[in-house]
Amino acid sequence: MPRTRQQNVTAAQWSANGAALGALDLTSPDNQVFGANVFSAAVQRSRLPKHVYKALQRTLARGEALDTTLADSVAQAMKEWAMEKGATHYTHWFQPLTGSTAEKHDSFYGPVGDGTAIAEFSGKELIQGEPDASSFPTGGIRATFEARGYTAWDPTSPAFILENPNGALLCIPTAFTSWTGEALDHKIPLLRSMDALSRAAIRALDLIGIEGASRVFTTIGCEQEYFLIDEQYFFERPDLVTTGRTLFGAKPPKGHELDDHYFGSIPERILAYMLEVELELAKLGVPIKTRHNEVAPNQYEVAPIFENSNVGSDHQQLTMQVMENTARRYGLICLLHEKPFAGVNGSGKHNNWSMGTDSGLNLLDPGDTPAENLQFLFFCAAVIAAVNKHQALLRASIASAGQDFRLGANEAPPAIISIFLGAELEKVFTAIAGGKTVASKPGSFLGLGTPVLPPMPLHGGDRNRTSPFAFTGNKFEFRALGSSSSPAFPNTVLNTIVAEAIDELSDKLTAALKKQGATLEKAVTSVVKEVWTSNKQIVFDGDGYSEAWHKEAAKRGLANLKTTPEALPWLTNKQTVAAFKKYKVLSKRELESREEVFTEQYVINVNIEAETAASIARTMLLPASVRYLAELRASGLEDLVGEVEPLVKELHFAILELEDANLDVNHPEDAHKEAAYMRDTVTTAMNDVRDVADRLERIVADDLWPLPKYSEMLFIK
Ligand code: ADP
Ligand code: MG
Repeated sequence: MPRTRQQNVTAAQWSANGAALGALDLTSPDNQVFGANVFSAAVQRSRLPKHVYKALQRTLARGEALDTTLADSVAQAMKEWAMEKGATHYTHWFQPLTGSTAEKHDSFYGPVGDGTAIAEFSGKELIQGEPDASSFPTGGIRATFEARGYTAWDPTSPAFILENPNGALLCIPTAFTSWTGEALDHKIPLLRSMDALSRAAIRALDLIGIEGASRVFTTIGCEQEYFLIDEQYFFERPDLVTTGRTLFGAKPPKGHELDDHYFGSIPERILAYMLEVELELAKLGVPIKTRHNEVAPNQYEVAPIFENSNVGSDHQQLTMQVMENTARRYGLICLLHEKPFAGVNGSGKHNNWSMGTDSGLNLLDPGDTPAENLQFLFFCAAVIAAVNKHQALLRASIASAGQDFRLGANEAPPAIISIFLGAELEKVFTAIAGGKTVASKPGSFLGLGTPVLPPMPLHGGDRNRTSPFAFTGNKFEFRALGSSSSPAFPNTVLNTIVAEAIDELSDKLTAALKKQGATLEKAVTSVVKEVWTSNKQIVFDGDGYSEAWHKEAAKRGLANLKTTPEALPWLTNKQTVAAFKKYKVLSKRELESREEVFTEQYVINVNIEAETAASIARTMLLPASVRYLAELRASGLEDLVGEVEPLVKELHFAILELEDANLDVNHPEDAHKEAAYMRDTVTTAMNDVRDVADRLERIVADDLWPLPKYSEMLFIK
């Protein structure tokens, strides 16, 4: 087929001149690789002096600061270990506000006078780095003339080795801060929020009389959805290459309505790919557990076993990176965009979240004794209160240009944040609020042996796939995250607002316990009752995709922030600033910088899409349509000319409109106004171009159409 971009396919090919990474025999059962490339606790124990190892473990367990005089010793052991694994370079691996990860590689080797070089890596180099990072977004925190930003070692996330066919790289997870100590990344606030939640939860556990815990960790396990398409098609499509999504493409005749793909058997090439991804991730200590087909054709999902939020978040970034890199070895491209194909299900990231103590308790596990139930009811009520109060902020924490195509598109959670508890759990809260007990159904409830407390459901009730925030047995699942996003920021928000709610409930509990005749049971019940009564409007167990819910949610006064420009201002809303300040997670300035950066990213994103769309339409689709028109004219078939000619004119007109809309001079100066302009004017103009182009795609001769079609990309595996 004479497609115009086939050279791209050739140009994008490469092959390693060293050994391929997949060379390991994946079929051999004794290739035990889990954690092989991680500077794990086990490696540390065998390589560090005893007192250093102990001090380091204390840091991890208690979240205390590490004695920096030990750093030289850690650096030495880390370097030796890494070099034995073939590493020649190291990098401070960090997560700037772009949402992806960043690296600057430094060689271990430094020249010595005699013309040779020796490997060196000091404690100072381990602890602190100064990347030339002046072009990372900071939202005004750091002007370029004072562009110093520092990376600081995070000993709570283990260092690891990234392999390349020609060498290996030691990656040291780090935080990224300005020289004034302000967070320029996603890791610092996440760590701060985990601390905040831990303090609040420990205080609450104390009040409830649960002993043995000295620290509470928030935990996450992210189910990641993604598409795989053959790289041939990818490199023939400038829109996919530049923006990660198709800006054109008529809906395929056979759509995702056909369920045969979902949970069907996994095609062999795809499974081979998944196995290698999982092997690579296993080496990095990422505990992948499940894999399956997803709803849309060529869409899949992978999920790990949960870990603490910081490590889980780092591992989630690694997962995305490994998925993208490995795909190329199978002639595939992994698409992480939220909505790569219009009219086809998009991709999300289900963020399973809970709180666990260092003594092994899951605070959101209903448990099977009355005491555990009290604890569960208390913490569950705190989550309900937090989500209700900060629903708009949660929505803002997951906002991006890509998400605007997905949320509320009748296939993903709506932009309205609500909580699904399941019928049984909802009954429990309703009963408490009404001062009643619930009849126990044998087998489905855990008997508590006390009339005051209602029996707890053993399982969180039915599944509800349409809820953005669902209780699923012993954790909440925040389902509204975009597939390409870092989980760090949404989890920072979640931890902070729940810390605040736990403290508010603890205050109430303290007061209730002081009342005459108070028992713990009565006091907790009264707090839970109060919280439920004033927050139950956030709880909804019906169909979140339905029109009826949109109306009902409006009646309940729930926020419905449909687009990113509407949502982002909540990052600096008064109650957001108050909560983040109180828990020292982000200062007002740090919040403002995030709002600025995310707004700017939204504008840049739409701008690039608009330019790409205009260019593809003008230089690929319009010429193809004109050629086809010329052929029809030459054939003398006037009816056909009459069918195509108006569309060609319409396309030309729409392109002119888009080009004009996206001219710099037409963009408003003010950032918020510009974001709204991009959404209302530029995106609309882009959709108009697409609309007519997609109609042309259906009638222009196939051998003239320059872009691979949905039917090819989605159904050839
Ligand atoms: P589901 O079908 O409910 O989505 P899974 O058992 O497949 O159930 O779990 C999905 C994800 O939830 C997994 O990544 C898992 O690790 C994670 N998960 C389970 N328990 C917890 C927890 N306590 N905290 C955070 N994540 C959890
Ligand atoms: Mg799930």
